[in-house]
Amino acid sequence: MTTGKTMKIDQFPEDVKQYLIPKSDGSISYRCLECKNESSIDRLLYTCPDCGSVLMLQDNNFDRLSKIGGETWRKVFDYRRMLNYQPLKGIFRYYEFIAPVIPIEHIVYLGEGHTPMVEANEQLKDMVGLNFYYKDDGLNPSASFKDRGMACALSFINYFASKNKLDNLLAICASTGDTSASAALYASYLADLVKSAVLLPHGKVTPQQLAQPLGSGAKVLEIPGVFDDCMKVVEALADNYHVALLNSKNSWRILGQESFSYEISQDFDYEVADKVIVLPIGNAGNITAIMNGFLKFFQAGITDGLPKIIGVQSEHADPVYKYYLESIPDKRRFKPVTVNSSVAQAAMIGNPVSMPRVIKLFQEYNNAADDLKIFIVQVTEQDIMDSMIIANRNGNIVCTQGGESLAGLKKAKTEGFILNNETCILDSTAHMLKFLTFQEMYFEDSFPPEFKIKPKNEFKNAPVLVRPENLKNYPERGRPLKGEELQKYIHEMSAEIAGILGLKAK
Ligand SMILES: *Cc1c(COP(=O)(O)O)cnc(C)c1O
Ligand SMILES: [Zn+2]
Repeated sequence: MTTGKTMKIDQFPEDVKQYLIPKSDGSISYRCLECKNESSIDRLLYTCPDCGSVLMLQDNNFDRLSKIGGETWRKVFDYRRMLNYQPLKGIFRYYEFIAPVIPIEHIVYLGEGHTPMVEANEQLKDMVGLNFYYKDDGLNPSASFKDRGMACALSFINYFASKNKLDNLLAICASTGDTSASAALYASYLADLVKSAVLLPHGKVTPQQLAQPLGSGAKVLEIPGVFDDCMKVVEALADNYHVALLNSKNSWRILGQESFSYEISQDFDYEVADKVIVLPIGNAGNITAIMNGFLKFFQAGITDGLPKIIGVQSEHADPVYKYYLESIPDKRRFKPVTVNSSVAQAAMIGNPVSMPRVIKLFQEYNNAADDLKIFIVQVTEQDIMDSMIIANRNGNIVCTQGGESLAGLKKAKTEGFILNNETCILDSTAHMLKFLTFQEMYFEDSFPPEFKIKPKNEFKNAPVLVRPENLKNYPERGRPLKGEELQKYIHEMSAEIAGILGLKAK
């Protein structure tokens, strides 16, 4: 129902009515982080046409948003929560802060965003010694946070294609698995406009992540190498051919991913100054978006301050961590690292595309907070795996990267980065079902040696086949047991199971 009549806008307060359905009257341009060159969004751009550096999208008239004032915005978002209007049901509840140039009718909504924040149970809180929540971004449509960015990027492409009368766009991306699942899903919704192709490092994505783009009808190309190699090939394709690039070089994705910060702000009634966000870093698009999102809400007077942000990297893929090990900013030099096998496979990246964005925003963020608010920690593969298993044995559904968040939380506490009275929100970036292979290797103690992971016996789990000794016949396909045989089967089976479970007779 997207018609005005069915909405309850006329029941909403006068001062928010005029803002509830946004107008696409914003002005956005690409801005180069290196040479500051600005380019129009009339073209699909991924890097600066002058110097080749990475871009960000900036709102040229952000002041108009600040002028409206925090109190009005808070009301607008809270009332939009009650609004029955499809385009604003997902990340575009925060339309003005994401992409106020995309006409509403071009918004693609597949159910992304507004993922639950689940408070850790007492055992987990006691184990860490902190109050924390998991924000379950694995509950997005393609089961990872990548959908936030794709919803924005594909909404823009939908608008771009209609404006330029294009109907045969090819969208392409390189992926550690989840980007391609998401890109293929969103492109398939626009099947008459956009076809998609994804490049995956052969053997370095899980079977589930391979199945997703195949199911969405994308052309799936597996190439030998790791993600960083795929990325180079995809960039060459974007430089030399007519394709729409859907990697996080695409700055429209960053805008959509900012919704993660907006949702946390709203869910805590816009009080975030005493919060701590913990997330894994791979290509560093997510931390870029999260910093930028919190900055924008703070600058518009919507939130009471800036939360701390803890970025987490595995010891097997830690270029961002290494960069910030140097405490004197002028002496920091970025060096890509060669990655080793990591269970946090979606973050197994040695040369993050968004590093220039991180460097710029890291400084802006700390300046705006007038304090050091961003910390990068490094964790072991063993702790990532143990943390995932423990989290999921306590009511969560986190993937290995979500395990990395918990490992990072513990590490940050040890390092003294988190105060006892602060509340932490851990990004569970994907659903555990996408990364089952790692759980399997843990339970079966079958990790290849390069992971250096030794499963803890108390966390192992395996199905038990129940075959009582004095049963000769079992039901088979087309040959069910009957009569006395069936009675014996039920009796022997339940006795055996009661034994295994240690049940006491009534
Ligand atoms: C992409 C991804 C990451 C890494 O995010 P970046 O934006 O590349 O830093 C972490 N976890 C999961 C599950 C992902 O899909
Ligand atoms: Zn430039």
